[in-house]
Amino acid sequence: MEDCIFCKIIKKEIPADIVYEDEEIIAFKDIQPAAPIHILVIPKKHIPSLAYLQNEDEALIGKIYTVINEVAKGQGVKEKGYRVIVNCGEDGGQEVGHLHFHLLAGKKLGEKIV
Ligand code: AMP
Ligand code: ZN
Repeated sequence: MEDCIFCKIIKKEIPADIVYEDEEIIAFKDIQPAAPIHILVIPKKHIPSLAYLQNEDEALIGKIYTVINEVAKGQGVKEKGYRVIVNCGEDGGQEVGHLHFHLLAGKKLGEKIV
């Protein structure tokens, strides 16, 4: 956790362009955007990945989706649409070991895998 860059963003030890924050969740712009709008929505609790969710996290994950919708509305893409991606583990392409939800929007997004 001490070396986790997202925990450092939560603690304001490194800067980020924060677009939403409450006591449990924070959302900030991705530093290497893959779309015109690319925001990471994360729990403040250090959960290493989706694979490490516990039963007690269920309400938090539900709330994250509500926040994603609020952020999408705030960014003006509620009607046009958006994509939410969670990479999990090595094969899933996860690079940062703190659970995060990618919110991508602002253009017709590329090839669908599923
Ligand atoms: P993932 O590959 O799913 O683990 O996604 C990690 C994401 O975090 C990538 O899209 C990175 O561009 C992004 N990222 C890494 N460091 C930072 C940072 N300091 N501020 C904002 N986004 C970051
Ligand atoms: Zn963390």
